[in-house]
Amino acid sequence: MTSSDLPPRIPLLSKTRYTAGLQCVKRLYLELYARELATPPGPGQESLFSSGTAAGILAQQLYPGGVLVAEDYLHHREATVRTKELLQDSTVSALYEAAFTEDDIRIRADILVRGPAGSWEIVEVKSATSVKDQYIDDVAVQLHVLARAGVQVTRASVAFINNQYVYAGGSPVVGDLFSVEDVTEFAQERLGEVPTRLAEMRTALAAGHEPSIDIGAHCSKPYTCQFVAYCRRNEPDWPIDGLPGIRATRVDELRAAGYRSLSTLPDSIPLNAMQQRARDAVQSQRPWISSDLTRVLGQMTPPIHFVDFETVAPWLPRWPGTRPYQTFPFQWSDHVVQADGTLEHAEFLADGDGDPRRAFATSIIAQLRGAATLVVYTGYERTQLTALRDAFPDLRSALEAVLTIPQFDLHPVVRNGYYHPEFRGSFSLKAVLPVMVPELAYTDLTIQHGDVASLQFQQLWDRDLDESARRQLRADLLAYCERDTLAMVRIVEALHGIVGRTELRG
Ligand code: SF4
Repeated sequence: MTSSDLPPRIPLLSKTRYTAGLQCVKRLYLELYARELATPPGPGQESLFSSGTAAGILAQQLYPGGVLVAEDYLHHREATVRTKELLQDSTVSALYEAAFTEDDIRIRADILVRGPAGSWEIVEVKSATSVKDQYIDDVAVQLHVLARAGVQVTRASVAFINNQYVYAGGSPVVGDLFSVEDVTEFAQERLGEVPTRLAEMRTALAAGHEPSIDIGAHCSKPYTCQFVAYCRRNEPDWPIDGLPGIRATRVDELRAAGYRSLSTLPDSIPLNAMQQRARDAVQSQRPWISSDLTRVLGQMTPPIHFVDFETVAPWLPRWPGTRPYQTFPFQWSDHVVQADGTLEHAEFLADGDGDPRRAFATSIIAQLRGAATLVVYTGYERTQLTALRDAFPDLRSALEAVLTIPQFDLHPVVRNGYYHPEFRGSFSLKAVLPVMVPELAYTDLTIQHGDVASLQFQQLWDRDLDESARRQLRADLLAYCERDTLAMVRIVEALHGIVGRTELRG
């Protein structure tokens, strides 16, 4: 990229751009001048964005009687004019989405509350369940802008979701749904850094070329940067962060010492046993197989149930007696390998827009009656079964019985039993399956990830959804969950094949 590609003037900043620049000035530069290099946000990020917007609107009720600055971001100048009028109007107790442009920074303040003697409180709204350090920077840059605009802010707060709030039905009690924390002291402290940080960002932006910043731990902290794929384009085939379980700071140390590729990482670099296996597998280009794998696999007794659950955790509670972000299992799939080797499949997907837990619990209890082994991938299913047991006293003993079925977590079995260089440091089902069972990927499915399944399920709550769209959504959800459990069956078969046994084949 050359200086001739650059616009003549540095574009205006915003609080999002400011926090992007704090994370990495190259990120800010790319956002402003090469946005097309970004990886588009996935459905999970988009949903986070929309829950943040919805929480912002609901939190306005914490300060009733305020006035919304309705002009959208395409009409920012008009919004600033309207904001000025409202600030002058002493009958206006609060402003929602007040707009300012000062020091070449455009902001929309979520909530401004009029205080005594011309003072104001700023309230930043987040859909998270605690105040995170990066929110203080959001607030600090707004304080900087507001000070330039002559708005005297004497208190700064963050409103966030109180996940202990129990919804009683009807409209949520907004005062209980949100917690409001005074962050004035921290934000004032951080405010002192804002001019220096802005100057650094502007110097880098004015330089006319992409800042030379290497990838590192900062690429995912506090947010996963959308330019990771671009910035990694020159990484070697076997990058150093493909070591399982390696800390990001350790990766940075190794990179700083000149080590970038596992292919050439010398034995003198101390690694734990698993990482050593990964390095050896890459350098020899041969998988590692544990001598204990045969014994471990032999512990599975038929009928073997390969089970997977899908869950949803809405930020805004939907059903009385439930809390924000509480997890609700809504779907299961079960592939069963019988003693004679036959393979059967059963499934459940909740219907309607009610609390899915009871129907889920009764159906899984019936399905797992007589199971000798339960195979899962990570301990997530056990956590959900335990929560169901505690939620439904009348199902307690039946769920206790399910919990006593010998559980076989395939994740540590793979982690401790087999390593293929193409795992590239990850033992997740999505990383392991394409390597061990290449013919059974997820690429032919509409839904390919659990977070998308959760979002799609929430679409079924829309009563206006037409019947064919509903049928399609349900079919996509069923296909995804079924694939997860079939994947586990095939992985176990592949492991048996690796150690020379194939009796699981259905
Ligand atoms: S991927 Fe990392 S180095 Fe690249 S722009 Fe993002 S934060 Fe900066």
